[in-house]
Amino acid sequence: MRKKIVAGNWKMNLDYNEGISLFSEIVNMVNDEITGSQTAVVCSPFIHLYSIAQLAKGYSKIGIGAQNCHQAESGAYTGETSAKQVKSTGADYVILGHSERRQYFGENNELLAAKTDTALKNGLTPIFCIGETLDEREGNQHFDVIKTQLQEGVFHLSAEDFGKLVVAYEPVWAIGTGKTATSEQAQEIHAFIRKEIADKYNQQVADDTTILYGGSCNPKNAPELFAQADIDGGLIGGASLKSRDFLDIVKVFN
Ligand code: 13P
Repeated sequence: MRKKIVAGNWKMNLDYNEGISLFSEIVNMVNDEITGSQTAVVCSPFIHLYSIAQLAKGYSKIGIGAQNCHQAESGAYTGETSAKQVKSTGADYVILGHSERRQYFGENNELLAAKTDTALKNGLTPIFCIGETLDEREGNQHFDVIKTQLQEGVFHLSAEDFGKLVVAYEPVWAIGTGKTATSEQAQEIHAFIRKEIADKYNQQVADDTTILYGGSCNPKNAPELFAQADIDGGLIGGASLKSRDFLDIVKVFN
């Protein structure tokens, strides 16, 4: 059985104290309100990681993640943070290939393949993001774009290593726009992703892969999205900054 995960991506929001305060609320609620086997993951800015990992100690239903890491093990890369450094804070996850990294920081599939390798080598679970832009969808290229992102970003991995990944489908046109994909649109792509994984590896690997949906996900639309056969949870931006909304989304799997 593949894992159900609801991951919050705080992006570049919240100062140190605001982040600690929000996370403290989330930890208490997770403990009291999560009755299923799902995991809630919070992907914070680097500055919060160590402190929130301390707060999360002893809570098996909550995980901590970063939003990026560098592809090199260490070295003269001023301003960057390595996978090993992320892991040493107590974090277990790292978002890689978010469309904002691809768009604003020029991250391409080749670089993301290298980041994925380094993250895995250091014991982090990559939440590997893929998704098409509005132009690509309107040009009917979305399946090709997603296939290429998988092939060039993560299909170099062995089946064993691929099995350690979480995949997140985030249509760029749905991120922060309030315009969520319909559950049919999302399911169609999730099924396609799972089929690509089965074709590349085998059905077992595909069936075991957690595939999250991201893009304007909220407590209202999450139940229908998460009820789809190939949607195993969400990657939540804006709504993850409100403890009540985030928990209500996590609770869809109760
Ligand atoms: P929103 O939920 O704010 O649309 O953001 C989605 C996202 O980018 C999560 O990584």
